[in-house]
Amino acid sequence: MNIRKSRVPADTPRKKELLNTAYGVYSRWIKRVPLACRKGCAACCTQSVCMTCLEGEVILDFIKRRKKRTWLNEKLSETVPGKNKPAVTTNQYARACLAQEEIDAAGAGSWDFTPCVFLEDNICSIYEVRPFGCRSFGSLVRCSENRAAEMAPVHLAVNTVFTQIIEHLNSDGGYWANMADILSYLLKKEGTGDSGNLLAAQPAPGFLLEPHEARIVHALLLQLKKQAAEKQTFGDLIDNFMLME
Ligand code: SF4
Ligand code: SF4
Repeated sequence: MNIRKSRVPADTPRKKELLNTAYGVYSRWIKRVPLACRKGCAACCTQSVCMTCLEGEVILDFIKRRKKRTWLNEKLSETVPGKNKPAVTTNQYARACLAQEEIDAAGAGSWDFTPCVFLEDNICSIYEVRPFGCRSFGSLVRCSENRAAEMAPVHLAVNTVFTQIIEHLNSDGGYWANMADILSYLLKKEGTGDSGNLLAAQPAPGFLLEPHEARIVHALLLQLKKQAAEKQTFGDLIDNFMLME
């Protein structure tokens, strides 16, 4: 199938609106899943979380509104630059899977269980602006470092699609990387920003879904399109990958 490019808005405020719409649609969907997650349960809050620059800018807006830039610098000074650099982005991975190509994961670190620097007394200190990587955490059983999370395959599929869409929103020159590396990059950007630990965000190449998952994702994409102020981006994704009707 010849897939035409799904457009993304050129300006950051419109991208942030689309990101917010994606967070909202996902949040309403996940409320129906009977997760064991509760406030104060935070074994999943580690330094392995990845996100886009767009999500990092939303966090920085929040930090600047609260005049907590020094606080953020102190938090980031507790992290090791490049320590949790991902090998590939989610859309790179999806593209390779769709093309049945091998992934070169050389250099990828193992999962880092070091607690996230934003965790204070087992509560997230930036909860309202946490990236999708955190919003998509969830388990049907109370998990810990010694007990793996349990997630229904459809939950995993929806998480992957939303991660791909959010990467797609930043695919016109933005980045995907570990949360601390993105924030460090954005903070230094006004001066000497170094993108060495970041990967270029990629457009969505398609979704890897079973037929019953595709029906759910199609319904969610329709909600995204209906609720977004700018309908073209999500409309393109439906037209390109969800030709089900
Ligand atoms: S994913 Fe696991 S550790 Fe995280 S909130 Fe849910 S049950 Fe708790
Ligand atoms: S940003 Fe917040 S939700 Fe995400 S890992 Fe850190 S403490 Fe947890």
